[in-house]
Amino acid sequence: MSHTDTAPLLAVSGLQKSFGTNRVLDGVDLEVRRGDVLVLIGPSGSGKTTVLRCLNALETPDAGVLAFDGGPVVDFSQKVSKSDRTGLRDRSAMVFQHHNLFPHLTVIQNVIEGPIQAHGVPKAEAVARAETLLARVGLSEKRDAYPSELSGGQQQRVGIVRALALQPSLLLFDEPTSALDPELVGEVLTVLRELANEGWTMVIVTHELGFAREVADEVLFFDAGVIVERGAPSELLRQPKKERTRRFLDRLL
Ligand code: ADP
Repeated sequence: MSHTDTAPLLAVSGLQKSFGTNRVLDGVDLEVRRGDVLVLIGPSGSGKTTVLRCLNALETPDAGVLAFDGGPVVDFSQKVSKSDRTGLRDRSAMVFQHHNLFPHLTVIQNVIEGPIQAHGVPKAEAVARAETLLARVGLSEKRDAYPSELSGGQQQRVGIVRALALQPSLLLFDEPTSALDPELVGEVLTVLRELANEGWTMVIVTHELGFAREVADEVLFFDAGVIVERGAPSELLRQPKKERTRRFLDRLL
């Protein structure tokens, strides 16, 4: 689904980030349109996770402008105010490779914690919202279980529900299936596919190229902190124009 007639939900330009002398992002530009799914691919260490972490204000870029439609335009070459940073962070929610659930909290407690603590949602409302979302991913009966009592796939589905409960404009997924046993990957990809069909706007880092081909509106190939090539999955994954992209895809196939 492509929404070329509307303003982008998020526009990023000139994103730069170094860790010490290691320049990890070297001028990244991207746009995410409402309802679109962007898939980021590329070799390990190419900067994909760092991009997601910058979008979610978990990392502070050295330079670059991030602008959410209807939200603050944040220019990281200037001093960024706390409210701009919060405004940025609240617009997206991240699902990590390892689900990062609190082990001492039950499933429902994990899901309501963010809305109550970060957004001040009343507890009864947060619980009702969490129960609806858990039902959607088939986990109603695990409501009062602890994370250690769930399979890896179930834990990751709770991780997704926890992100959805924050009602973000943008969902960010950092290799959401790469820590799972192969037989558990499918159930998580099914949830992602359903979210895409429901019109959620998503940026997904993944090595699941079949999934990318099916769900992505645009695929971005990263190498050494830059976007080397971008395009529709049918073009980029089948007939990449750049040699570096071709070499990467050849290694994966
Ligand atoms: P990818 O997601 O493509 O594997 P990352 O964004 O995780 O790449 O990492 C890009 C580079 O940044 C790597 O060289 C990594 O070691 C480095 N890096 C990431 N986070 C940190 C950090 N907090 N401190 C120092 N180096 C980091």
